[in-house]
Amino acid sequence: ASIVAGAIGALSEVLGEAQRAAGATERLLELLGARSEIQNPAHPKQLPQRTAAGAAVALADVNFSYPSRPDTAALAHLDLSIRPGETVAVVGPSGAGKSTLFQLLLRFYDPQSGAITLDGVDVRDLDLHTLRGAIGIVPQDTIIFSADAMENIRYGRAGATDEEVIAAAKMAAAHEFIERLPQGYRSFLGERGVRLSGGQRQRIAIARALLKNPPLLLLDEATSALDAESERLVQAALEAAMVGRTTLIIAHRLATVQRADRIIVMEDGRIVETGTHASLVALGGVYANLAALQFHHVQVTGASIDR
Ligand code: ADP
Ligand code: MG
Repeated sequence: ASIVAGAIGALSEVLGEAQRAAGATERLLELLGARSEIQNPAHPKQLPQRTAAGAAVALADVNFSYPSRPDTAALAHLDLSIRPGETVAVVGPSGAGKSTLFQLLLRFYDPQSGAITLDGVDVRDLDLHTLRGAIGIVPQDTIIFSADAMENIRYGRAGATDEEVIAAAKMAAAHEFIERLPQGYRSFLGERGVRLSGGQRQRIAIARALLKNPPLLLLDEATSALDAESERLVQAALEAAMVGRTTLIIAHRLATVQRADRIIVMEDGRIVETGTHASLVALGGVYANLAALQFHHVQVTGASIDR
């Protein structure tokens, strides 16, 4: 069974889009005649009636190792409490555990100890469809399907009307470029259709997430450089997507970390620093070093911040 779990992890990474991986995973498991280690609870709990804009998320002393590497802690003693509506940026070097945190929130794996709750309910007590239905994902690399632009966005919520798709595209700053395609929303995208730029693909992903309208948004910011105009449009789309929901972002851009309510810095599966951009730069620790390397277009020293 652990081979299967490993394959699921690899699959969701390859696809980069966990919702798609969820469907593909089920098919893979059928093919293998195997059962995932992740089981739907026999008597699932319901999420409480939400009273705030956005979900509350909490991790309590979460310890996790991948089944294929039982001796290495991918997450160790992780404690994190996120308020409804909060925007939290997650930063840290490669291998720190950022993607693992997202995989656990989506319950592609269960921690060996500790608990993860969504609106106070342990994710293991929720039906997988309920859990994943409450979470929107904007992956680093968006998958564009061989289908027209309308269907590519509608993938965010099957059954959405054309009007709803167009409204989401407008909020995600995707409407204008789609309208300019040869057949507008009926233009065929994907390998044998119109090839979109990186910024355009990201805005399609954001439109999907907006259409789904989830209380929790997981955003894995693209590392690839965008031209200035695309950057501005993607930034505007992200800002629209964060309104009225809880957002966790694996952040690579200065604008994103500066706008976050809180930055958590991960290293070796642990949270090593927490604060705002200014407070963490002033601290002169892991974040300050990381920021100096990653956000190299700004001067990141303790002295430059307060002046
Ligand atoms: P980040 O996203 O911060 O770069 P990850 O969460 O991807 O880090 O990885 C955290 C640790 O878990 C790393 O040591 C990585 O090698 C390991 N890891 C990630 N995915 C898997 C997997 N599917 N199987 C085994 N180990 C993994
Ligand atoms: Mg990662």
